[in-house]
Amino acid sequence: MPNLKRILVTGGAGFIGSHLCERLVGEGHDVICLDNFFTSQKSNIAHLLTEPNFELIRHDITTPIWLEVDEVYNLACPASPVHYQYNPIKTIKTSVLGAIHVLGMAKRTNAKVLQASTSEVYGDPEVHPQTEDYRGNVNPIGIRACYDEGKRCAETICFDYHRSNGVDVRVVRIFNTYGPNMHPYDGRVVSNFIMQALAGKDITIYGDGSQTRSFCYVDDLVEGLVRMMNGPADFVGPVNLGNPGEFTIRELAEQVIDLTDSSSRLTTMPLPDDDPTRRCPDINLASQKLGWAPKVPLEQGLKHTIAYFRDLDLSRFRAPTPNVHDSGA
Ligand code: NAD
Ligand code: UDP
Repeated sequence: MPNLKRILVTGGAGFIGSHLCERLVGEGHDVICLDNFFTSQKSNIAHLLTEPNFELIRHDITTPIWLEVDEVYNLACPASPVHYQYNPIKTIKTSVLGAIHVLGMAKRTNAKVLQASTSEVYGDPEVHPQTEDYRGNVNPIGIRACYDEGKRCAETICFDYHRSNGVDVRVVRIFNTYGPNMHPYDGRVVSNFIMQALAGKDITIYGDGSQTRSFCYVDDLVEGLVRMMNGPADFVGPVNLGNPGEFTIRELAEQVIDLTDSSSRLTTMPLPDDDPTRRCPDINLASQKLGWAPKVPLEQGLKHTIAYFRDLDLSRFRAPTPNVHDSGA
């Protein structure tokens, strides 16, 4: 008899959340997707609405909610810099109040909580690749702080609920993840480059493009999230989840042009403040504790993602928030 659970996914209509909901619904769990649709739209989860074990709640996690569940994946938070900087105070409220509301609920219902933290807790790292014991180099007053410090504080809240109230928590630090269901106007580098390449527009490289990122395909990431939720009882984390393949942003642009067979050219734009210079996860801990490692190489993941964007009916999407770079601000 499979161990079927009632599972809440906050931010469940978003890019990662929609893949996670699909996976959990497919396994037969009773899934509640909670979202305020700030950076997503219903189309990501529309195909699940007719499933008897899927339920959608439009709710903003900065307001408390009481639900009887066994597990919570707490993903609600804008993740793209242009979106989390659009209303920074809302972003930090979403991280901090969201964590408090989810953990308060979990304390009363005995639910297990997986918190989606981020590689951004390492800021512009002086340690490379980043291990979980590195405490980071975050500018607490910069334009990325609403997200970075919000996520750091959410980790603190998780550990305090764990120590003080015995809440079963799992903390994962997600590195740059990409794939189908990213919002076409999301503003993150993979979606921007693919959209630009498919439209034959210039590819916008911020700075000189020598900064690095490590890109994890979404299926690999979702596998890591599920393994962490179901991992050893005493393994709270934090644990890095990401693909250790490291690429410069210029290399990514060239690969996207290649794979789309595009005539686009590279153009440079100013580097945003506090943009991390290098980022690459050390995933030894995830490998030892969870037996997890990403399987999808960048080229293969990009091909799937390009196919998704190629088929997208763009008239059905609206830009969720203005892009500061597009407006020349
Ligand atoms: P996303 O923007 O596609 O999804 C976030 C979802 O949360 C959206 O559906 C949005 O509408 C919802 N949301 C935002 N504020 C909310 C609020 N106040 N109440 C309810 N719902 C709200 O981003 P994503 O890439 O799917 O990221 C999911 C989670 O993973 C986020 O917590 C993000 O910080 C974390 N993460 C993602 C990455 C990545 O590369 N994708 C990297 C590190 C961490
Ligand atoms: N970037 C870029 N062009 C774009 C979007 C992003 O050169 O159109 C750069 C950005 O400056 C950063 C990297 O790509 O160095 C990754 O940006 P993203 O917003 O995807 O995520 P981050 O890792 O910075 O949170």
